[in-house]
Amino acid sequence: MKKFLVSLLFVLLTLPALSQGEDGAAGLDANLRVRGSTWPGGALFVSVEDVPEGTKGTWKWAGRTGELTPAPYGLRTGLAVPLDASAGGQATLTIELENADGSSKTLTRKIQVDKKWRPVQYLSMSSSNEAKYSDPQADKEEELVFAALEDLQPGLRWKGNFVDPSPAQRSSPFGVRRIRNGKTAGFHRGLDYAGAWGSPIYAPADGKVTLVGPGFTLLGNCVIINHGEGLTGLYLHMSSINVTEGQMVKKGQVIGKIGNTGASTGPHLHYATYFHGVPIDPDVLADFPKEWAPDLWD
Ligand SMILES: [Zn+2]
Repeated sequence: MKKFLVSLLFVLLTLPALSQGEDGAAGLDANLRVRGSTWPGGALFVSVEDVPEGTKGTWKWAGRTGELTPAPYGLRTGLAVPLDASAGGQATLTIELENADGSSKTLTRKIQVDKKWRPVQYLSMSSSNEAKYSDPQADKEEELVFAALEDLQPGLRWKGNFVDPSPAQRSSPFGVRRIRNGKTAGFHRGLDYAGAWGSPIYAPADGKVTLVGPGFTLLGNCVIINHGEGLTGLYLHMSSINVTEGQMVKKGQVIGKIGNTGASTGPHLHYATYFHGVPIDPDVLADFPKEWAPDLWD
């Protein structure tokens, strides 16, 4: 019995040392936290906490890679669960850390992708609108838009929940599967608001205008707001634009008016949000728990 107690004491004494040894094996402690919505179109809030000062990090997720940005508690990034992620399956998030002293560490986390039902929407488009999808000019404009959506601008510009960019009724939800003129047209990557022509569009959060697209073939008059750290918002089909590239905008500020420009079947606002160029459901940003990113609520 005494021998047992002695060995138990030995185990208890060595346990903390062992676990500390594992965590700090490469001289680099880190605590990986993943919070958020794990269904396709959801957003993950990833943070690496308690890392030594000067540590840098990269993420690998869903076939893409990028840099972690500094946060008050370490490093972080927001990530999108792609709309075409296989629901019910698992995806792996990999974080590579490198400290100023040259030590490095790899952290991995398996993420279970939850199921989310997406309805099908049938759209009928005029032949003149349909032709815009195969216009080479639309491809050039798309490149500019993708570059602006993927533009990682370190430094957070927003706080708290996003607000609706329009009080109008929603006419098409995020993530529906679309059949356009009888052909599969992929997922609807934003939210539509059936606002009246000329009604105001409000910035849902503070940010910087990084793209103003006047009269784009498919997207019409469009604007991109960069909210920092890889989070961007896209506004399409506007009748007029009230902002210029490089301008800082405040939550609630009018950025333009609802219209019917580009490939659009009637006056409406298409509003989409992205982490690193991959669409996320804007409603996640409109209502997320404070503990996902505590410093966003200071
Ligand atoms: Zn839309």
